Amino acid sequence: MAKLVSIEVICPNNRKSLMDRDTLLHERPTIKLNIQNGTNYGTVRLCSVYDCYDQVSDITINDGEIVRFFCPDCNQELKGNMTCELCGAPLISLPIKMGGKVMFCSRKGCKNHFVAFADLSTEIKKFYEEYGN
Ligand SMILES: [Zn+2]
Ligand SMILES: [Zn+2]
Repeated sequence: MAKLVSIEVICPNNRKSLMDRDTLLHERPTIKLNIQNGTNYGTVRLCSVYDCYDQVSDITINDGEIVRFFCPDCNQELKGNMTCELCGAPLISLPIKMGGKVMFCSRKGCKNHFVAFADLSTEIKKFYEEYGN
């Protein structure tokens, strides 16, 4: 039976929560980030449900375009030091509050998106205990 597991992420720079509890997707808080696409600036809300790729943004992003992401609180650019193995765009890496990190591709339409745990066996157990209901 599939459970809606919601992931809580924080800014890697100032460790503040990136969750928006006022805007929901699948009845869960969303991950709110500022974005830049060319000369357009806007806000995106990503679904926090594990394995869900839904997102809502207030600017138009076409499939295939690479988006830059920023913390809405400290405005630091959010980027990891890895690139997407599917399409070569930068991979965005956000720490999960309880440990591990979520990685997703910065290219619109690319489905590369995964959760990396430091220690899979203990972290995934904790993950389901805390968020799996
Ligand atoms: Zn920040
Ligand atoms: Zn990609």
